[in-house]
Amino acid sequence: VTAPAVLDVHDLRVSYAGAVQALRGVSLSVPEGSVVAVLGNNGAGKSTLLRALSGTLPAQNGAVTGGTIAFAGREQPRDAAAIARGGLVQVPEGRRVFSNLTVEENLRAGGLAAPDKAARAEARAWVDELFPILRERATQRAGLLSGGEQQMLAIGRALMASPKVLLLDEPSLGLAPKIVERVGEVIREINDRGVTVVLVEQNAAMALSVADHAVVLEVGEVALQGTADELAESEAVKERYLGVP
Ligand code: ATP
Repeated sequence: VTAPAVLDVHDLRVSYAGAVQALRGVSLSVPEGSVVAVLGNNGAGKSTLLRALSGTLPAQNGAVTGGTIAFAGREQPRDAAAIARGGLVQVPEGRRVFSNLTVEENLRAGGLAAPDKAARAEARAWVDELFPILRERATQRAGLLSGGEQQMLAIGRALMASPKVLLLDEPSLGLAPKIVERVGEVIREINDRGVTVVLVEQNAAMALSVADHAVVLEVGEVALQGTADELAESEAVKERYLGVP
């Protein structure tokens, strides 16, 4: 028995500058409480999918040109702030923290999207527990943290908004293998607390090790989808994404 979908994407189409069609009719369903991995090569449309979900397509040239997104059974509003307050929160690619602000200030900024004070306090206690290093570095400027610490801060900042669904864009990018492993564990811990996760990754091995379901995008279309175990066993995935000859 599969849990009901918290996020339902149907025939989603996105174009940039009216010309490049980055998503050509993508449908996928994210069961509540699951981790869904989105795999694919550079330019396959993974980031575009996340940006469409979080309402953060670049306003000057990106647009949803067709299809529907339903979040918690309702049609998704188009406004990014409303989407975040509703519980769909994105951790952007390249762990974009506010480098001139302190760790503490970054976390507070994340808390602005929390539904209320109680939720914010609860999230803060959880973030402190998940990332003790952030408490130690509370007064340091975020730009001075290591890459791994910045990724933890970017995740912590998103958790401060009490997400129902967390969208992660390539959290392992540029990190040492040990840190990538830690990121995987953190994703599991977050999911164990009931947060649904959509994980965009080029590191297919890491993504499939933490995900329940996975979707492979190729040139803006869903090429494969199934359980993470099925995809990890698929010859096409092994050959193209896991580097197994
Ligand atoms: P990557 O891992 O490189 O981020 P991706 O799978 O996330 O790859 P997208 O970034 O979603 O892929 O890009 C999908 C397509 O849309 C590509 O052809 C890309 O060049 C194009 N694209 C992405 N962002 C923009 C933009 N702001 N303006 C114009 N084209 C864009």
